[in-house]
Amino acid sequence: MPFNRPYTTGNEIGYASEARLARHLSGDGQFTKRCHIWIEERTGCAKALLTHSCTSALDLAALLLDIKSGDEVILPSYTFVSTANAFVLRGAVPVFVDIRADTLNLDERLVEAAITSRTRAIVPVHYAGVSCEMGSIIEIAERHNLKIVEDAAQGIMASYKGRALGALGDLGSFSFHETKNIISGEGGSLLVNDPELVQRAEIMREKGTDRGRFFRGEVDKYTWQDVGSSFLPNEITAAFLWAQLEHAERITAGRLANWNRYDEMLAPLEQRGVLRRPIVPPECQHNGHLYYVLLQSDADRSRVLSELKQHGIGATFHYVPLHSSPAGLRFGRTHGELSVTTALSERLVRLPMWFDLSEAQQQRVCDALRAILLS
Ligand SMILES: *Cc1c(COP(=O)(O)O)cnc(C)c1O
Repeated sequence: MPFNRPYTTGNEIGYASEARLARHLSGDGQFTKRCHIWIEERTGCAKALLTHSCTSALDLAALLLDIKSGDEVILPSYTFVSTANAFVLRGAVPVFVDIRADTLNLDERLVEAAITSRTRAIVPVHYAGVSCEMGSIIEIAERHNLKIVEDAAQGIMASYKGRALGALGDLGSFSFHETKNIISGEGGSLLVNDPELVQRAEIMREKGTDRGRFFRGEVDKYTWQDVGSSFLPNEITAAFLWAQLEHAERITAGRLANWNRYDEMLAPLEQRGVLRRPIVPPECQHNGHLYYVLLQSDADRSRVLSELKQHGIGATFHYVPLHSSPAGLRFGRTHGELSVTTALSERLVRLPMWFDLSEAQQQRVCDALRAILLS
């Protein structure tokens, strides 16, 4: 049994053929427009802009906020490398703050003490599609005049107090990588929530030109306006993505059902004290992106991973905390001990999870876990 099986709805290739027949293969054609409108309507963001990946959406966000050498950005160490790289590429210093033991998200109670005169932005990562405590984070950002860039790579269709993830900060980002809920192979989107940033975001995404305004007939030629690069995906990718977005509701429901089934099946093992299940605060509606368990030690984890492998089950773990990675302290620094990050990242196991994972497959995973942990 694999760890992930990318799900396709069946319409992807048909839509890609439509794009071919329309003879519009570069970016910002009809399928890209449909995807933009969908994201804007679903999340309430001021402007959605498809990108090559969530990584490139974060790169664009850092460019857009004029992040410069010497600036500091607050983020968790327990995250994917792209959260930090986007700012390091601009010369900024990532300041790693510890996570909460319940959600494994940036601990909002530690953020304020990490702020210095150089801090420019806070980058909350919504781990497993479960929101950070955004009420507190937004309040801190407002008090200190900081920007918020949400790494909502895992957060499509999830919400905090009824508001969509990705649309809560000044800027947000989604990933459509094949390991995420909604996919286009590689792909992503920037969500621009501050209306004042919309025009510049469009320009920077189009190599620093006002090509978008030209095509809308707002200017009579397009010219070099600002620093920028090429961030827009081609129409084939957008067509593929559209086939997925159309079914986002059903895909999310399916994943949530699988998530809930794991959660029920594993309750007895939690009662026996051999693992801890994920904790989702009541104000967070998640999206079934991933199911993890926390074991009692890293030795337990090594044993579980290798024995699951012998059972033919593709479980995995993440992340090696950024502050303990080779590049982590070369580019960034820590604030405080990060003891929760260190302890929990060593004990986490992700179980196989995809849309049409069957109940029998889940039973097999849970039976194997029980046998390993209670032996
Ligand atoms: C997947 C992921 C990314 C990167 O997304 P890509 O689309 O592959 O660039 C960034 N941050 C987090 C938290 C992720 O899970």
